Amino acid sequence: MRALVIEDSRTSQAMISHLLREIGIEPLQAETGARGLVLYHERRPDLILLDVELPDIDGMEVARRIRSSEGPGEWTPIVFLTGRTSDSDLEAGIAAGGDDYLIKPINPVVLTAKVRAMQRIAQMRDKLLETTHQLDQVNRELMRLSAMDGLTGLANRRHFDTVLKSEWERGSHRRHPVSLLMCDVDFFKPYNDSYGHLQGDECLRRISSALQFAIRRPCELAARYGGEEFALLLPETTAQQALEIAETVRANVERLAIPHAQSPKGMVSISLGVATRVPNGQLPPERLIGLADKALYIAKKSGRDRAAQAVGGAGEAVAS
Ligand code: GH3
Ligand code: MG
Ligand code: MG
Ligand code: MG
Repeated sequence: MRALVIEDSRTSQAMISHLLREIGIEPLQAETGARGLVLYHERRPDLILLDVELPDIDGMEVARRIRSSEGPGEWTPIVFLTGRTSDSDLEAGIAAGGDDYLIKPINPVVLTAKVRAMQRIAQMRDKLLETTHQLDQVNRELMRLSAMDGLTGLANRRHFDTVLKSEWERGSHRRHPVSLLMCDVDFFKPYNDSYGHLQGDECLRRISSALQFAIRRPCELAARYGGEEFALLLPETTAQQALEIAETVRANVERLAIPHAQSPKGMVSISLGVATRVPNGQLPPERLIGLADKALYIAKKSGRDRAAQAVGGAGEAVAS
């Protein structure tokens, strides 16, 4: 533990420093307010003993400057050394940011007791800061987990809805198109039936990696929308670009070559619905989901293992 002693009287400085050393505290000595402030910033003491009457900057002002430079959660105990004892002097010292005071001439027993008390408070502050830091970390982790789908590690539905809403607003301000891919695994019921639910889960995990693999920019988001349905949100992406990405995702799944005896293709495939709109105040983001869903339905109807795109204002779709 380090204590900064800002005191211009040499005898007082020597006596205080000696007492501090005796209780295992290293004194940092300053004889002016300016030097005290420099040492405070450079050495970050755990305690400050501060003379009120200094040759340059008044002790109260030194305390005020220290307090105003402290960041959130930072606090170094300040004990004033003063010859003045009137109530208003004490009140001014506390108002300036002091925590306690010692009346000169300094009584060694009182000095030791007050330093120990301040030490205890400082230790409690450190523990509190540490707990706060741990709580922050736990909260961050909780936030991360509450946005994540447990099976696949992709964003969950709730997080997807939040991001869609904010990207929709951003797109509406910037007037850029927002694209959405809705994907559904083909013949997944029979897959579960013949390979079992656990293998079905593993299949979903692998498909999610195929989606994640198609992501190119931090603003894009792959999510598990529901059971075996996935969504890929593509801000600032045109219809043509979105269709190309849909084909990439489809091909990524194909490359996984997950055997599926009950599928005509002999392996797992996905169908995709693609929708693109430039958001505006009248168009809710749910509309984009509806359009992508319709396109997905068309992709299913026209043979699966393909992407279909929503075209036109009425939401018709064509398979690609
Ligand atoms: P289609 O080609 O038309 O999509 O046919 P499908 O058999 O895939 O039909 P559907 O999309 O309705 O199938 C959904 C199936 O997905 C039914 C359900 O048991 C399965 N499923 C949903 N969530 C999970 C999950 O978390 N794990 C596993 N293993 N299966 C799931
Ligand atoms: Mg003095
Ligand atoms: Mg489905
Ligand atoms: Mg399906």
